Amino acid sequence: MSATPKVAFIVEADCIGCARCLPVCPTDAIVGAPHFLHTVIADDCTGCKRCLPVCPTDCIRLVPRPANVPAPTEMAARWRRLYRAHRARLARASAADSHALTAQAQSFDIAAAVARARTRRHPTTGTPRT
Ligand code: SF4
Ligand code: SF4
Repeated sequence: MSATPKVAFIVEADCIGCARCLPVCPTDAIVGAPHFLHTVIADDCTGCKRCLPVCPTDCIRLVPRPANVPAPTEMAARWRRLYRAHRARLARASAADSHALTAQAQSFDIAAAVARARTRRHPTTGTPRT
């Protein structure tokens, strides 16, 4: 016998709007913005529980999938699409971070080179260059 399907439910009174639950949801089933209440789109929630451990106030509960929400078997194709979109977005964000880090590293190298050049002494006078 299979277990009863579940969905996440956010006890809004206890949600502090920290947004930690947003990036971990593989189907982007949680909506909200920093400092605002968050809520779960029950249709898109797979009941995977990934959001539970990241919540600092333990305000996310798993509850039985409501009767008016499509069954997981009906949602499978959509969940796959949502998951692919979620992964693609994470990959783009990661690439953007990587570009930013590379640019930062290059600017540090330039700054270090300038600093080194400034401390080098003039070849004929022996005084530090300014
Ligand atoms: S249980 Fe899984 S799918 Fe549902 S909201 Fe939490 S992370 Fe998203
Ligand atoms: S992790 Fe918990 S407290 Fe933070 S936004 Fe999500 S539900 Fe609200």
